[in-house]
Amino acid sequence: MEAVTRNIFLYLSKSSILNTLAQKRGSSLVSGKIIAGTDFRQSIPVIRELNQKGLSTTVDHLGEFVSKPETAIQRTKEAIQTIEMIRKENLVSHMSVKMTSLGLDISDDLVISNMIKILETAEEHDVMITIDMEDETRCGKTLDLFKQFKSQYSCVSTVLQAYLYRTEQDLKDLRPLDPFLRLVKGAYKEPPSVAFPDKKDVDAQYKKLIEQSLTYGLYTAVATHDDQMIEYTKELTERLNIPKDRFEFQMLFGMRNQTQLELAKQGYHVRVYVPYGRDWYGYFMRRLAERPANISFAFKGLFKK
Ligand SMILES: Cc1cc2nc3c(=O)[nH]c(=O)nc-3n(C[C@H](O)[C@H](O)[C@H](O)COP(=O)(O)OP(=O)(O)OC[C@H]3O[C@@H](n4cnc5c(N)ncnc54)[C@H](O)[C@@H]3O)c2cc1C
Repeated sequence: MEAVTRNIFLYLSKSSILNTLAQKRGSSLVSGKIIAGTDFRQSIPVIRELNQKGLSTTVDHLGEFVSKPETAIQRTKEAIQTIEMIRKENLVSHMSVKMTSLGLDISDDLVISNMIKILETAEEHDVMITIDMEDETRCGKTLDLFKQFKSQYSCVSTVLQAYLYRTEQDLKDLRPLDPFLRLVKGAYKEPPSVAFPDKKDVDAQYKKLIEQSLTYGLYTAVATHDDQMIEYTKELTERLNIPKDRFEFQMLFGMRNQTQLELAKQGYHVRVYVPYGRDWYGYFMRRLAERPANISFAFKGLFKK
């Protein structure tokens, strides 16, 4: 039953009609709950408050699968402004980007030129840019581009997904680049030809990758809300004598708020992924697919007048 519900939400996450409806309905429903605000300016007080509580952030301007070059160029300009504001406002924050919002599906030249503009600004302002990992069809291209960027810019990092069979090899391939790496279980609907279909296999693979990444000496961001994985990382890093400045926990804004604070109090570095923007529908649906109970409050309001 859980798998069926997950599949329905992941299927719905791709509906452009529902996406448009969600944008029209406004974002007040989810604002302050699972997204920080509709634009970056509105999100600054939220980020500042998290920083004051000892939590770092990575901000994400919601939106993906852009098909018009002018939209990708506009998104690039906005990303550059966000980096400048992070520095101007003295926020303790990275920025996350989805390359499909910067032209990945349009042309190589476009996405590369947009990413270079962003990375030049990020390098100048000392802000880390993490390239989120999207669905499997874009994984190879994303990693190839990441390797290209990483050879020129130190301020770029990316994400590996434990549910993909290819990831163990990808981790080995990335090792010589010494990246800051976010490890996740994986959020998209993938066929069994490319991804482990059973949750228990994904969990086992996730643990294996955490251990490999840490023993390779890579700075590892363990991005999960799962207590089992958090406890596993704590025990592992103690056993392997890995200092707390070589890894961090990451969680999504609005999820497990208490756990985020407790981990920070215990001296762990915690980073909160803070999404903002009007294009919240796809993100929202993936969160529903993961755990309907957790955000049912917002879902109930979605179809209300
Ligand atoms: C910071 C961050 C960045 C991410 N970036 C990407 C990305 O770039 N690409 C990508 O594909 N995916 C990304 N993800 C999503 C990720 O792949 C998973 O889909 C998502 O994190 C759900 O998996 P999980 O490990 O949190 O736990 P799950 O496997 O979903 O849940 C395991 C258990 O953890 C507990 N749990 C889970 N969520 C909650 C909650 N909200 N409250 C209380 N208990 C809970 C429950 O006991 C649950 O049974 C990101 C996730 C985070 C946290």
